[in-house]
Amino acid sequence: MANEKISPGMQQYLDIKADYPDAFLLFRMGDFYELFYDDAVKAAQLLEIGLTSRNKNAENPIPMAGVPHHSAQQYIDILVDLGYKVAIAEQMEDPKQAVGVVKREVVQVITPGTAVDSSKPDNSNNFLVAIDKSQHQYALSYMDLSTGEFYVTELQDFASVRSEIQNLKSKEVVIGCELSEEEKHMLTKQMNLLLSEEYDMFDDVQLVDNKLTELEIKVAGKLLQYVHRTQKRELSHLQAVLHYEIKDYLQMTYATKSSLDLLENARTSKKHGSLYWLLDETKTAMGMRLLRTWIDRPLVNQEAIEQRQDIIQVFLDQFFERTDLSESLKGVYDIERLASRVSFGKANPKDLLQLGQTLTQIPVIKAILESFDARELDSLVNDIDPLPELESLIRSAIDPEASATITEGGIIKTGFDERLDHYRQVMREGTSWIADIEAKERQASGISTLKIDYNKKDGYYFHVTNSNLSLVPEHFFRKATLKNSERFGTAELAKIEGDMLEAREQSSDLEYSIFMRIREQVERYIQRLQHLAKTIATVDVLQSLAVVAETNHYVRPRFNNQQVIAIDQGRHAVVEKVMGIQEYIPNSIHFDHQTDIQLITGPNMSGKSTYMRQLALTAVMAQIGSFVAADTVDLPLFDAIFTRIGAADDLISGQSTFMVEMMEANHAIQRASDKSLILFDELGRGTATYDGMALAQSIIEYIHDKVGAKTMFATHYHELTELSTSLQHLVNVHVAILEKDGEVTFLHKISEGPADKSYGIHVAKIAGLPSQLLSRADAILTDLEAHSAKLTGESEKESTQLVPPIASDSNVQEQLSLFSDEENNGVIERLRSTDLMNLTPMQAMNLVFELKNML
Ligand code: ATP
Repeated sequence: MANEKISPGMQQYLDIKADYPDAFLLFRMGDFYELFYDDAVKAAQLLEIGLTSRNKNAENPIPMAGVPHHSAQQYIDILVDLGYKVAIAEQMEDPKQAVGVVKREVVQVITPGTAVDSSKPDNSNNFLVAIDKSQHQYALSYMDLSTGEFYVTELQDFASVRSEIQNLKSKEVVIGCELSEEEKHMLTKQMNLLLSEEYDMFDDVQLVDNKLTELEIKVAGKLLQYVHRTQKRELSHLQAVLHYEIKDYLQMTYATKSSLDLLENARTSKKHGSLYWLLDETKTAMGMRLLRTWIDRPLVNQEAIEQRQDIIQVFLDQFFERTDLSESLKGVYDIERLASRVSFGKANPKDLLQLGQTLTQIPVIKAILESFDARELDSLVNDIDPLPELESLIRSAIDPEASATITEGGIIKTGFDERLDHYRQVMREGTSWIADIEAKERQASGISTLKIDYNKKDGYYFHVTNSNLSLVPEHFFRKATLKNSERFGTAELAKIEGDMLEAREQSSDLEYSIFMRIREQVERYIQRLQHLAKTIATVDVLQSLAVVAETNHYVRPRFNNQQVIAIDQGRHAVVEKVMGIQEYIPNSIHFDHQTDIQLITGPNMSGKSTYMRQLALTAVMAQIGSFVAADTVDLPLFDAIFTRIGAADDLISGQSTFMVEMMEANHAIQRASDKSLILFDELGRGTATYDGMALAQSIIEYIHDKVGAKTMFATHYHELTELSTSLQHLVNVHVAILEKDGEVTFLHKISEGPADKSYGIHVAKIAGLPSQLLSRADAILTDLEAHSAKLTGESEKESTQLVPPIASDSNVQEQLSLFSDEENNGVIERLRSTDLMNLTPMQAMNLVFELKNML
């Protein structure tokens, strides 16, 4: 390209492209958007469109690809979905009137975090995040351009920033400052985010919230500036930035939310099988989004939670009114998104019709809420502003049959605008008026063959044959002379003709401009519409929670500040929903104010994880304001939930299972307070037995002595159950099983005290492993248990410390041999000769007694 002579048009392209190096530039040329050079090559591949070249015969032809302007949106969506930015350069003047190269300018840059026009209907939020930092603090701001929500907060460290971005499911992050290489790597490589720089703040951003810190003003300001710089338009729907603090909500990392399947099922990444799936009986798109927000941010303020509960209770008490309410919400469209489309200048007649229909429905909803006649609903009722002026504007202006296009007429209702009505009348009745004139003049003139014709050149005219020329009246004027006839016009005919022409040509333009005027009027209501949207969303979520509570027989939880957990006959709400209420075995969970830690033992597959999650899920549901799955529930208000559940390799971040496990454990014990809830499932399993058990024990001791958080700790290290003798705030519980004739039945029932053994081989049998393999495992187990018994005897003599079981790793074997002792051979022999599989529980107890005596 260097030595080629560049045309002025291409020079203009290159000049514009230089300002948008990180975006695909769609360069409008007539009916197409063209892409050139590398953009063209890459886009041709990504969009599967043809790649051509601009000057085929030149030495270095310029690669070119194009998409038709009317279908451009779908291509833009693909690129943005893939994580790219797209800059749209439009022609800023009519090419026919342009002197030289048509003026072009970028009118919008669409980025993954600012996309609002996606042709795919999707109700979820699209949050664009900005981060900034000072010496000791980070600040994070986020906004959804499609709804206008805008928030800001300060965070202590990068881990919290990361977690918040993950929670928001953002695709793009505006960075307001230099980040460290490690931080950048984490955002781009591990979290797959698009980073956009906005280091300097030029605009004098107006942020109306005097509670904001300097850093918060900076980060929110830069976010706003980035949005204005890319969208290049007034964004009247953006709401005032709201300050929030993560400590105002029940804190959970993204990993915790994910392991509790709050918004989606972690295994399938689908809504089905998540808490959101369970609680979603919302009827509106706004309600659906708000429910997700509530699930994502349960509350910690008792009063606020109880306010939600009170309203749910009212909805439960009055079934008929609530059914009417649910029905009435079905007619409500996405007010937030419609308001944003108005602000973006994208709203079409169908959008305004949807808005109008929604507004017609609002008084109905308000009346139903009033019919409950409940004080608890007062603030909701008072918050509903039905905007009757706007409703009547839309109802009187927009034709219910209007299509989505705004340039082809058929939008405005008759009766709304006099001039338009006149045009329509002329178009509709013009031809019959012409027929009337024809009849009138024929009679007046006495020319029996007088008729009105039309052609393109002369328009409407009276056709008079030469033989009748003498009868032509005075007021006729000649339009054309033919061989056998002449054509005449009259002032009256000319007037109608003019009117018909004008009506045909002007009415669509007039409709367009009336529509624009209405849209501008609607824009003035945006803030009130957003407020209305919030209230309707709240009503919707609360009725949804009431419906779910009723369907599943949930109860209203109580809260205490004695740190007591008392759940009677509790159920894991999602598992219960999936398996059916008859199948699920309820479990009570009790922690008196003395108890901080429950050590849970029990066979694989017995239900330890389900029991632990049951508590976390019940706490989350309760703090959302929802009713919960149990007979009665009394809970403390947790400030945070920490989990280490399941063995997830974090391959992308290059961390092993065990490393992730230890990091999560560290996160929990460092951050938890005595008001937190910790769930640790089989912590320490990812390393050698001694290591793992030692860590597990010391973590339990640390939580017990230093943290005081309510903790559930499920483990297969049965040795840990002895801790109940030394740790006064720890109790043992186990999952009961029924063993009969060598067959194990899982009862899924939690009982006091420790479990006796693991039954891993039974689970392997259920899983269908070959019988030969299972017999071998039995033999090995017998052998190992014999060693272990010997070891236990030896160590008991020497110390009171817990003793780890035998592991298969060679270090452990080596250590075991150090403890070999002839004396205990009898015990070993006795154990070797015992067929464990065929022992009844009574026989097992007797055996233990016998072995103990032998030792
Ligand atoms: P592992 O130690 O192997 O991880 P676990 O003891 O944690 O197992 P869970 O994963 O909680 O066991 O439960 C295993 C299965 O048992 C569940 O998938 C569920 O189908 C069933 N289950 C658990 N709890 C109950 C219950 N209370 N009622 C009915 N079925 C249950």
